[in-house]
Amino acid sequence: MHQFFIEPEAVRGDTVLITGAEAHHLRTVLRLAAGDRVRLFDGTGRILEAVVTRVSKGETETRIVACTTAEPPPVQVHIGQAQLKGKKMDLLVQKANELGIQTLMPFVSARCEVRTGNPERQERWERIVFESCKQCGRAVPMACPPETDFAGMLAAGCEFDLKLIFWEEERQRSLGPLLAPMAPVHTAMALIGPEGGFTEEEVTQATAAGFLPVSIGRRILRAETASLAAMAILQHRFGNLD
Ligand code: SAH
Repeated sequence: MHQFFIEPEAVRGDTVLITGAEAHHLRTVLRLAAGDRVRLFDGTGRILEAVVTRVSKGETETRIVACTTAEPPPVQVHIGQAQLKGKKMDLLVQKANELGIQTLMPFVSARCEVRTGNPERQERWERIVFESCKQCGRAVPMACPPETDFAGMLAAGCEFDLKLIFWEEERQRSLGPLLAPMAPVHTAMALIGPEGGFTEEEVTQATAAGFLPVSIGRRILRAETASLAAMAILQHRFGNLD
């Protein structure tokens, strides 16, 4: 069933008006007509099933036939990702949303080669998340806050049950043996470095802030590979990717 995003205010009783780009997509691209069923998300977790009652230029009227609420995830996994070059962040934003990550927080660290928080990039990420939600049926979009610095990233970590910093030079603590006996956590945060990795000083600072340095093996993964692996491992371990 095709899915569309609506503003919460678009719901009036059992009628929902789809407008703007979503209405255009529905009418011109997908060529839906009266009688077709659609699924509507308002971004809060509410999922409406509706039937199209009228299609006109610029807006489509639908009537709600069922309303459900998306189940809250068993764990909230947040990823702090050092800014990467080129289109790698775009890829991570899309994949993180598909994998059910709660927030992807971009930050700048000592060895980042990308330095400026570009407002266009922020808007592009919001669009990517939105398109991804439509593709994968996610009802509550992943959050992508504005870029912060490394200190800001560490400070943002204070509220999480499990805090990890992925470090390829860690030799004492491997992720598998750490997670295996662990009781379920409600919130987890993982930091992934830039292409050049974290400095030792950053790892020391993160440790002082309560992050556990972890390795996921002797192979050095590219930053985006490490990030996707971290997402999948944590989500799977705590029941959000079964
Ligand atoms: N400093 C390295 C590569 C950094 S890899 C170099 O230039 O050779 C980029 C990021 O991916 C790292 O900061 C780390 O967060 C993560 N990463 C890659 N391989 C990893 C591994 N085996 N264990 C844990 N984290 C890893």
